[in-house]
Amino acid sequence: MTGPRRLLLALLLLAAPAGAQEPRLTSDLASTDWARAVDVVILSEGYVRGEEQRFLADAKRLADAIRLDPDAAPLRAGPPINLHFVFVPGRDRGAPWQPGRPARRTPFGVHVTPEGDLEADDAEADALAAEVAPDVDVVVVLARLTPADEPIPASARRRWPVAEGDDLDLPEDPDDVRPNADVPTDGGRIRTTTLDPEAFLHELGHALYGLGDEYEEYPGAPSADERWEVAVCPNLTLEPTGRRWRDIVDTAFEGGGMWTKGVWRPERRCRMRESRADAFCLVCQEVIRGGRDADAPGAPVWTRPTEDALVLLPPGQRRLTLEPRWRHRGDAPVSFHLDLRRISPDGRRRQVWWDAVEGHARRTTLEVGVQRAGTYALGISAVNLAGASEVVWTTFTVRPGGSASGLVGAVGEATD
Ligand SMILES: [Zn+2]
Repeated sequence: MTGPRRLLLALLLLAAPAGAQEPRLTSDLASTDWARAVDVVILSEGYVRGEEQRFLADAKRLADAIRLDPDAAPLRAGPPINLHFVFVPGRDRGAPWQPGRPARRTPFGVHVTPEGDLEADDAEADALAAEVAPDVDVVVVLARLTPADEPIPASARRRWPVAEGDDLDLPEDPDDVRPNADVPTDGGRIRTTTLDPEAFLHELGHALYGLGDEYEEYPGAPSADERWEVAVCPNLTLEPTGRRWRDIVDTAFEGGGMWTKGVWRPERRCRMRESRADAFCLVCQEVIRGGRDADAPGAPVWTRPTEDALVLLPPGQRRLTLEPRWRHRGDAPVSFHLDLRRISPDGRRRQVWWDAVEGHARRTTLEVGVQRAGTYALGISAVNLAGASEVVWTTFTVRPGGSASGLVGAVGEATD
């Protein structure tokens, strides 16, 4: 943070009404080239007035994970990382850890949902981070939880809604509360606790680099509606060949993205598989070292369906199967995003289908139930960590007409 900005912040604090909770910023800067640097903002949660040193000591363990941990070497090989620590006192000491217990009077309302997930007021955290730090890349809410042995009357406990189900893994202790993160396209956030600094690098893998979990939690394979979740993670694939990362390693192991089947990961071990130990695998390392330097990818080019193609549906057939194809120049993006819209006679477009496929793909199968003949627009964009290309559209018309060849919804000749 530059001198003038720090001064501006100080002035803002002076202008705050008496009794307001004043944030205090401490920065550990590696670079003042804000656009190039990775800026990590760590916000205090569950501390009260006079506990800033305690917060800074807790936050330092996260900083050490980045600055000193041998497993963080790929992070240190990338752009410089700035750390900003923001102390905000609350009225209550400790955020609640018991599932279903309501948030207390803490700055970011951290609580654990009845299903056991750590939640925070993301909008509040994003707003404060943006106010105090120059160019925020990831917002970390570091929560100090209430103690396990805190006396709580049974009458209060009975008012907390707790979910029930065999597949729920509800915390029975503050140590059981698991951190979580949002990938960059969802805002780049981490919610964690002072009790679990070992998981911080894993969560940064999600929040800074868009890496997916490589561990298995649920039996089975992702459904058609869930396959896009694999496509947007550069360290997971739906293909047992591992073609997605063949230029880095020629291995693929089944199990990843929380599924036991139908999803493959690059190596047997990785920090994205064992959240608190192990080095990142070679594919994750490559993403971490290079991802943030990449420019947004160029736009793909449609090769099929070509503009104004005609698609014939056999009589009685209500299902359209297309195999769209495209070309793409330059580095492979992380994923391609497809968007099918029906164009109504008055020109309005309504989305009927959406999907994402892995960045090495140049075709996909688009299977949707077509309710009626009409004109459709199919859009595609290439996406990586730096951003997305423009969306390129191709428009085609679906007409009942039959097909002697038995091809359903076959598009006229491909031009590639
Ligand atoms: Zn990995």
